[in-house]
Amino acid sequence: MTPLLGKTIIELQEITDTLGMPKFAAKQIAQWLYMKRVRSIDEMTNLSKDNRSMLASEYTIGYKEPIGAARSTDGTIRYLFATPAGKPIETVYLPEHERATLCISSQIGCKMNCYFCMTGKQGFNGQLSAHQIINQIFAIPESSQLTNLVFMGMGEPLDNWKELRKALDIITAPWGMAWSPKRVTVSTIGQMQHLPDFLQESHCNLAISLHSPFADERQRLMPVQKAYPISEVIALLKTYDWTHQRELTFEYIVFRGLNDDRHHAQALLRLLKGLPCKVNLIRFHAIPDVELKSSDLKAMEAFRDYLCQHGLITTIRASRGEDIYAACGMLSSKKEEERHVKE
Ligand code: SF4
Repeated sequence: MTPLLGKTIIELQEITDTLGMPKFAAKQIAQWLYMKRVRSIDEMTNLSKDNRSMLASEYTIGYKEPIGAARSTDGTIRYLFATPAGKPIETVYLPEHERATLCISSQIGCKMNCYFCMTGKQGFNGQLSAHQIINQIFAIPESSQLTNLVFMGMGEPLDNWKELRKALDIITAPWGMAWSPKRVTVSTIGQMQHLPDFLQESHCNLAISLHSPFADERQRLMPVQKAYPISEVIALLKTYDWTHQRELTFEYIVFRGLNDDRHHAQALLRLLKGLPCKVNLIRFHAIPDVELKSSDLKAMEAFRDYLCQHGLITTIRASRGEDIYAACGMLSSKKEEERHVKE
């Protein structure tokens, strides 16, 4: 059975055409899927009974419930979803005051091999389909409470552009979930192959993983610097008209004694000069076999204050879910995979 969840309006149109259903049926199905969130085709009551059974003979809605969950003392919940590749993926729910953010995975593992990241160490085990991406949003119990979505889970989203594009369409299109793109952020290492496509075809917010303003140092942290130098990423971003209302953020993990001094702050100011953006400082969460340490709060505050005093809006992101390995850079299904295999 093929899942309907994750299908765009064009794909639904192809399905209804093939089945000989009326032209308007695709829009009706999209509404049942993405607005009314039905769990069975039989609930699509404005389709004729014959059309419902014809649809149900080949398709299913396609909800896949999480296979595991870990709850942090701070309210963060790390969900685990099975994939056909046999390697689970992780999705993190982050409730905070009036906001509830979902951190979504876009790939099973990741090819980018960032030195400080558990997902990178796991290697790449496949792309997620738009169905598997959208399912992460719909299948968690807190789905209806979500206010923000961030593509900052496992994987490099722009390395899975075709499926990401479909998922972003479903999330923001009037025929889909009809969310404002301002509530959705896609985080990338600066994947230049599809960054121009993202800038042109989506209005969602953009976050770039920066972590060092110096090419050689960034390359040691992020091997992808060799293929996609940050100077080229910035040059591209500077050609874009940022008067649209989307946000541009640079993510900067602050490592003790590595990238947290005045010299780095000044280089950051030079690099980002002229770009209407903000910087998000992130504490490093220790992972096995990586000797790097996080800067302490005092050093991070001094770094932030220097950037702010020189006109660059800078914030320190609160760490969430560290006790359940759900914090930034800690996502890896290894433990659960082992447990799952034993069960
Ligand atoms: S930080 Fe992001 S891009 Fe780098 S390895 Fe981890 S998941 Fe991949």
